[in-house]
Amino acid sequence: MTESDSKRDGRAAPSAGAGSGAVSDEEAGFEVLDHFERFSQKNDIYSRAFWDPEIRSERSDRFFETYRTPLKKWKRAEGFRQKDYALRNASWHLPDIFAELKEDENRREGFLDPFTVHRDGPEERVPVESPAEMSREIKHVGRVFGADLVGITEYDQRWVYSHAYSRLGETEKPQELPDDLPNVIVIAQQMDRGLIDTVPSALSGTATGVGYSHDTLVLLGLAQYVRNLGYRAVATMNDTALAIPLAIKAGLGEYGRHGLLITEEFGPRVRIGKIFTDLPLEPDRPKTFGVQAFCDLCRRCSDACPVKAIPTGPPSEEIYNRSNIVGVKKWTVDAEPCFRFWANQNSDCSICVRVCPYNRDFSKPAARAWRWLAGTPLRRLALWLVDQFAPGQRVDPGDWWTNGRRP
Ligand code: SF4
Ligand code: SF4
Repeated sequence: MTESDSKRDGRAAPSAGAGSGAVSDEEAGFEVLDHFERFSQKNDIYSRAFWDPEIRSERSDRFFETYRTPLKKWKRAEGFRQKDYALRNASWHLPDIFAELKEDENRREGFLDPFTVHRDGPEERVPVESPAEMSREIKHVGRVFGADLVGITEYDQRWVYSHAYSRLGETEKPQELPDDLPNVIVIAQQMDRGLIDTVPSALSGTATGVGYSHDTLVLLGLAQYVRNLGYRAVATMNDTALAIPLAIKAGLGEYGRHGLLITEEFGPRVRIGKIFTDLPLEPDRPKTFGVQAFCDLCRRCSDACPVKAIPTGPPSEEIYNRSNIVGVKKWTVDAEPCFRFWANQNSDCSICVRVCPYNRDFSKPAARAWRWLAGTPLRRLALWLVDQFAPGQRVDPGDWWTNGRRP
């Protein structure tokens, strides 16, 4: 699973009281039903791996431990050797530091709680005469800090977790995000394609760790900038709110069958962060480029998933278990077998990302031409072309160490 199931879940609707020109559910491609319920982070599969005996096991405990302590015995398989774990765990070092910094205060910042490592800003606020101009500036500053994608949307309480989760108490705790921050800056960082192509491997988890490290740097820098302008800013990564509905509304991409955000620039190979703020900003609009219609035809991710956790049918309101959000019609992934697969192999899995036809290098003209074709009525031809010429096969991790990324 490349993103927590709670991150996979959910499509958005506009916040109550959104002004004229607000993005509607329809424009964002969302279908939120009457029996919708906000999601509690306690039901996220990673939280359940600590409190729920149905999910917690010796293997899941060992899975988490391998990110911090050496294996007792290294595997002989390429991609799971000592140097593969050495690199993966080093890539997680920065976000781990922040996650563990305030553990004795019952906080895991970036994963279960928002970041609080900021300095106070001045009382005086820089006047904002044009939210549109400030939005342009925020995107510019975000890119200076290293953001690959930056979009803006309005606060929508439905996607904020109803409760946070306390790892210390293994129980729910109150949501601390204030509800008077009207804007959300959504950022995304691309993950390394060469590493993802070695999935399944411990080595490939390096792409995830580096993605979170970049996310942390951008979130902290950008949020501090907003605070230095005199405004409030709460930087959040996997904690506090579902990222994908906010990212879709902010124009960063579309929702795929594998339950992940598919961006025009990097396909599904991204990690998402978000900053809640009262800085006056102008929201972006959702951007579509044909993903939903293409996913209607394509089954690459569901066929390749080793535990068949990805649906093969049309979007539906059915859920598998408590780790799925209730009352949203969409493609829903079964997080339980997905996580068990991770635990069994001692590393995260991104097979569904590796095989996705949108996992391409769009700096190349041929990839851009394919993306255009996939967004037209000739999408069957686009699917045939990827089957013939871009099968998404695994790159041997030994080759990655020897040769670097594929040509
Ligand atoms: S391929 Fe299946 S098991 Fe692997 S991350 Fe995707 S959904 Fe989970
Ligand atoms: S593999 Fe195919 S069906 Fe799955 S998300 Fe990617 S494009 Fe959609």
